[in-house]
Amino acid sequence: MPWYKKLHWQIIIGLVLGLLFGIVAAVNGWSGFTSDWIAPWGTIFINLLKLIAVPLILASLITGVASLSDLSKLSRIGGKTIAIYLGTTLLALTIGLTVVNVMQPGKTVPPDMRDRLQQAYEGDVAARTQAAQAARERGPLQPIVDMVPDNFFSAAADNGNMLQVVFVAILFGIGLLMIPPEKARPVQAFFDGFNVLIIRVVELIMLVAPVGVFALMADTITSIARGGLGEILELLAALGYYCIAVLLGLFIHMLVVYPSLLKLFVRMPLRTFFTGIAPAQLVAFSTSSSGATLPVTMECAEKNLGVSEEVSSFVLPLGATINMDGTALYQAVAAVFIAQALGLGLDLAAQLTIVFTALLASIGTAGVPGAGIVMLVIILESVGVPSAGIALILGVDRILDMVRTVTNVTGDATVATIVAATENQLGRPAEGGVPAAPAVVRDALADASGS
Ligand code: ASP
Repeated sequence: MPWYKKLHWQIIIGLVLGLLFGIVAAVNGWSGFTSDWIAPWGTIFINLLKLIAVPLILASLITGVASLSDLSKLSRIGGKTIAIYLGTTLLALTIGLTVVNVMQPGKTVPPDMRDRLQQAYEGDVAARTQAAQAARERGPLQPIVDMVPDNFFSAAADNGNMLQVVFVAILFGIGLLMIPPEKARPVQAFFDGFNVLIIRVVELIMLVAPVGVFALMADTITSIARGGLGEILELLAALGYYCIAVLLGLFIHMLVVYPSLLKLFVRMPLRTFFTGIAPAQLVAFSTSSSGATLPVTMECAEKNLGVSEEVSSFVLPLGATINMDGTALYQAVAAVFIAQALGLGLDLAAQLTIVFTALLASIGTAGVPGAGIVMLVIILESVGVPSAGIALILGVDRILDMVRTVTNVTGDATVATIVAATENQLGRPAEGGVPAAPAVVRDALADASGS
């Protein structure tokens, strides 16, 4: 197949053209034209992906859990998955804190720029603080209560309730394992067929991905540049060092931590992994939403990486809702950056509080654009930094959101590949075979997850 016919190249072309168009549109003042005639195609693309997310999670998790054949296998895979998710998030937080403490980007913001930013974003800060306030006023067990819906249809009717859908699907999957096989079979057959149908629909949606990505990029660039290109350049000059710190942390995590883990547990050629997951990374970059990217992540993991359906349909929907390494890393850098810029020192205890709250906050962050900055307010308040400080970073948040979402999605795919390999469920991807994890590693993981 010629290279330009490969999906990830088509998406890259869409992305670059969208970027160029966005810059030309911003320079020539075509933002009206862009929002009237270009942006809607991006919205349609995201809507299509979101449309498929709830049925996909439901069908794939029910069949995923039910096909695990017994509850001990479910608890082994579940325990292992959650342990690796938490471990990678802790590593991300450590990298974030190291980078920000070494680079000290907060010390480079000129005081007059700091005051101007705080004034400019006063209104936005109020909205974000209010959202965070609502989240904080809930009792300590509220996040668990929130996971359990009282009505299935209202849970499924709101894309922000993915965790509730995950809960219902796992519950029904467990139920299916416990009823007589002759009763379970037709239900399972239905969801199996439904799964195949959804995968086909995802493939159809991906046909328009290059156009969708073009439109999303064009719209993002023109709306970032609404205040004029000069303003962006000024902002980048003041906050460039902070952006570099976040990006450096994210790239270290993506290019050092994940590849090392893959080498250790999977021995998959890294090229196979990164080219296989590229379409999902590109969609994550242009949508800034790991929830919307989930259908593409699953398709890439199964088709290109060889992850079994049983593993991918359990590990990935869970990851898209609770595993956000990029978000956690960004939150750690941003919190310390704001403290530095406001001249507030954070001692070791405060930094450990950041690790703990960011770990929980990243689990509670929804996979939608900009969710990470709302949770940042809670982290700031936990260490006594005024939440109004987020005004400093709001202007460049969208750019960082794009890259942290790529990290979130790459993390989910890495963990799915590791779990599949250690369960002997990593088949042959599109190009080249992938050896499973060495037996010794498999046994160590099985012990660690208590089975
Ligand atoms: N946009 C991110 C995601 O969907 C969440 C965040 O704002 O950090 O993964």
